[in-house]
Amino acid sequence: MRYLYCPKCGTKLIGKAAGDNGDVPFCTSCNRYWFDRFSCCVIVLVANEYNELAMIRQYRLSERYWTYVAGFITPGETAEEAARREVKEELGLEPDRLEYGGTYWFSDHEQLMHGFIGFTRKKDFVLSSEVNEAEWVPASEALSKMFPARPGNTLQPLFHKYEEIRAQKS
Ligand SMILES: [Zn+2]
Repeated sequence: MRYLYCPKCGTKLIGKAAGDNGDVPFCTSCNRYWFDRFSCCVIVLVANEYNELAMIRQYRLSERYWTYVAGFITPGETAEEAARREVKEELGLEPDRLEYGGTYWFSDHEQLMHGFIGFTRKKDFVLSSEVNEAEWVPASEALSKMFPARPGNTLQPLFHKYEEIRAQKS
């Protein structure tokens, strides 16, 4: 998202050269640049010792397709902290180990998704009210249950990353 007005004082911004970045919205009252903004989010594939994945369904997103735990990183938090918090909040689980799964640009919502793979023992879920259903899904069935692959979808790339990590460990 590109700022048109200063979020602090409301002045209409002008374009001003900022080094290699070219013209960047600038507030002449506050004397500062307002670079384009986007949200930073985490998405966490949680797997257990039986090669099953914690998949959730949120009817506000889809009544058909399953996804992984995801959420916004809040100011002051690291991506790792946000990943652990979201897994705890949405599933009631605390992963023993987190591995970084790379970043993915989700253009629909201008979000930079930080992918993680969380490993935990199989336990029952304690769901938040944001989650309608959760299931331990065998990895072999996961691809057919999740949102279909398309550019910007993080689910499949993260699944393949998980398979890579598993292959390295065995
Ligand atoms: Zn201003």
